[in-house]
Amino acid sequence: MTTKTKNKLYGIGNALLSELFPDRCAICDKLLDSGKCICDDCNDSSSRKPQKFYSGRTLCYSVCEYSDVNKKIVLGAKKGRDFYKLSFMATEIYELLKNNGVMDEIEVIVPAPMSLAKRLKKGFNHTEKLTRHISYLSGIDTVKAVKKIRETREQKTLSREERMKNLKGSFAMSERRAVSGKTVLLVDDVTTTGSTLSEVAEVLRKAGNEVICAVFARTPYKENDTTE
Ligand SMILES: [Zn+2]
Repeated sequence: MTTKTKNKLYGIGNALLSELFPDRCAICDKLLDSGKCICDDCNDSSSRKPQKFYSGRTLCYSVCEYSDVNKKIVLGAKKGRDFYKLSFMATEIYELLKNNGVMDEIEVIVPAPMSLAKRLKKGFNHTEKLTRHISYLSGIDTVKAVKKIRETREQKTLSREERMKNLKGSFAMSERRAVSGKTVLLVDDVTTTGSTLSEVAEVLRKAGNEVICAVFARTPYKENDTTE
């Protein structure tokens, strides 16, 4: 199926969904005029401070800090499969990249992979849903090009070095031919130490790709941080 057809079907799905479930504010749940993700009240207070930074060798963009309000959006998308929150996060990432002229360089979008065990436990990979919506907005294909090939310890209690060591060799290409030689947008929801993004970016780079990362929220890393 072509990207155009996929996006058309996805668009029809979205339209049906918003017909059945009217748009609600991604933060406070207030009913909205259609086409909006967030109400005017919350838009002022959602503390979005976009950042551009390097994670290892990879240029990254983040929409906001992991504040209480933004955390509510991320957890809703992650645990509650909340479509409005997911599409809000995707739209914010897309707008940020477009405004920085990055979208023009991107040839393919790749979601940060999740282990099979985690996926089975959760039932879905919210990062894939994020990239699917960015594909819909941009017309650029999403390819699940990298997979997690080894279970790793929870990152939560690990130091920065331990996190890198823990992830080393845990990712591999699964769709090399579909992305090789392209400029890839690697997407995740949240980053703390950037260890996951750095490791996945390295795998993509070894397969001959240029990599730019984007996340919705960035959390300042503290020892004993439990976000990632
Ligand atoms: Zn609101």
